[in-house]
Formats: sequence, structure tokens, C-alpha cells
Amino acid sequence: MAAGAVALEGVTKRYGAETVVADVSLAIAPGEFFTLLGPSGSGKTTTLSILAGFVTADAGRVLLGGQDMTQVPPRGRGLGMVFQNYAIFPHLDVAGNVAFPLAVKRVPKAEIATRVAEALALVKLTGFEGRYPRQLSGGQQQRVALARAIVARPGIVLMDEPLGALDKNLRYHMQVEIKEISRRLGTTVIYVTHDQEEALTMSDRIAIMEHGRIAQMGPPREVYERPDNAFVAAFLGEANLLPARRDGTGVAGPGGARLEAGAGTLPGAEGLLFIRPEKLGIAPGTAAEGPNSLAGRVRHASFLGNTVRYAVEVAEGAVLVCDAPNGAGTVLHAAGDSVLLRWRAEDCRLLAG
Ligand code: ADP
Ligand code: MG
Repeated sequence: MAAGAVALEGVTKRYGAETVVADVSLAIAPGEFFTLLGPSGSGKTTTLSILAGFVTADAGRVLLGGQDMTQVPPRGRGLGMVFQNYAIFPHLDVAGNVAFPLAVKRVPKAEIATRVAEALALVKLTGFEGRYPRQLSGGQQQRVALARAIVARPGIVLMDEPLGALDKNLRYHMQVEIKEISRRLGTTVIYVTHDQEEALTMSDRIAIMEHGRIAQMGPPREVYERPDNAFVAAFLGEANLLPARRDGTGVAGPGGARLEAGAGTLPGAEGLLFIRPEKLGIAPGTAAEGPNSLAGRVRHASFLGNTVRYAVEVAEGAVLVCDAPNGAGTVLHAAGDSVLLRWRAEDCRLLAG
């Protein structure tokens, strides 16, 4: 296993009767940007803390660069860290904060000065050396934390919701910067967030966690477009999940509509048809035309500027959400209009219910 590679093998952690990390195995390549994504309480921080060495697993192994680090304390693991609860020191100025990991290692003063200057240049904080945290904005403080995490040039950096406290615009800027810096340094990043968009934009691969387990793992587009289960489908964005069942001739949806799915994981007779709102086409119409088309009535039309979101009732109690781009010459539909929704077999999947 090369330097910068990370692996968890069968890692399990219990607190009392609760299993908060359940037999998690994963392998991360050197230089990969890997994200643990999941709702609050799904075990992301615990998994990262086990990697860092702050929490000891009940079972399993932690491998860094091919070395078994399961029994090694945090400071022996050589990781950079940006944790939410690992704030920068208020009594040290910017240079002092960034120098801290090197000072602890007794790196010579002249070398510290050079490397602090480099790290501050990377996060665009040159000239801020003498400021104290209270004299910095939230985004600047976060960049100091980032500089501190990379100043010792660790091959692997762990980040736990590092942008959680920032407003939307600043978040976006920092996402781009973190991504750019890690790529430039070739750092392996293991990033934790509960924010789906953040995970989709930043990651090479995402592991979606649910109750301490990895529900699915893959590149952003794959997990978004080809979820393996309803949890992943719904967690990663707006998802239509319609009751579907196998019958003699194929798969039937609401009102007996014929369905054809490109793929899926439907094991039994009953399941759900998954389709993203932006994959549905909408046009005036009153009757289904072949498989993967459903006629319905617009219940609600929300004008969102660049798109229009329609809620279309296709059968008693079955409503599909459709996002239509507000492109050139788009005819808008109104509540009460009869419409036909259609989609491609390769854009939908049959999932277990
Ligand atoms: P996440 O980071 O995904 O929000 P955590 O890993 O922090 O989730 O927590 C997962 C579960 O483990 C939660 O139910 C949490 O309450 C529990 N937990 C975390 N740390 C401890 C602890 N030290 N003692 C007891 N329970 C804990
Ligand atoms: Mg957490």
C-alpha cells in the first residue's frame, strides 16, 4: 500500500447497546478526495475519530500507507486535521497558530518561518501573520485552521464539517480552495459533511452512511444517478419513488402503467421506481404513450427562475415531481393542466421498497 493510502477493515464501535460504526471497510487511494456523507448521528465523526486515533474501535484495523496503525496514538499517525471542535488557539496570532504543529515537533525556527509563510500563501493569508483570531472573519479563521493542518505537509488530512459555520457564498469559496490546495499538494483528504451538494462538488468518491453502515460508495455521479437503495436515492437529492410491482409481463406502476427500468436492485415482487425530477419530460397530453409514460394533472407549479418545478398527480395519491428547465420558448403548464410525463428506461431504477 502506497504512502497516502488509507484503509479501514471491519471497523466496529459500540457505545453501550448502540452500534455506532458497524463493520465498516473501505480503501482510499493516495491523493483521493473521499467524503463520508450522512445525516446527523450516522457515525461519520466516530469513523473519522477512529482513523485519527482519538477513539479506539471495538473491532477492526486502521491502515495508513500500508502500516497497521490500530494501536498507534494520534500524534504517531502523522495526519493533518481540521475538526469542528479543534478550533484555532485564541491566544496565538495567525503565525503562532500555523507554526504550532511544527513547534511541537521541535522543527528549527528558520525552517518554521519558511513553512509558515508557504502555508499562509497557499490559503491566501500572507500579511495576516500578526493578527489574532478575534481580528479575523469566520472564513479567515477557517483558512488558518487549514494552513495549520497542512503546514507539516501530511500525506493525509482529515476534515470534519470544516465549513459548517460559514455562510453559503463563503462555503462555496472555501470548497473550491480546499479542493485546489489538496490537489496541488497531492494530499489524500477524508472529508466529513452532512451537506449533499458539498459532497457532490468536492469528492472523487462518496460513502453514504446510514446508522453506522456504508449504504453505498462511489463517484458522485454514480451514487446520485444510480442509487442502490431508497435511502441513498432520497438522501442525495429530490427523488421520485413510486410503488412498482412485477407481474406476468414485466413491471407495473401506478394505475397499471408499464414500466421499463435500465437497471436496479429490486429483489422481490414489490419495490419502488426511482427517477430524478430533472429526468422527467413534461408536455401537454391526456394518455400514456408506451412504457415509461404517465398522464396526469398538474397539482402545483413553482416558478424557480431557471427551472419550473411541477407536482403532477399521476394516480390517486401518486404524485411525481418534475423539474423542467425554463429554456428558450418554454411553454409553462398551470395547475389543473393535463400533462404527459415521459422518461428513458436508463434514467430510472427499480429499488427494494
Ligand atoms: P455523526 O458525526 O454522523 O453526526 P457521530 O459519529 O458523532 O455521528 O455519532 C454517532 C452516534 O454515536 C450518535 O448516536 C451519538 O450519539 C453516538 N456517540 C458518539 N460519541 C459517543 C460517546 N462518546 N458516547 C456515547 N455515544 C456516542
Ligand atoms: Mg459529526
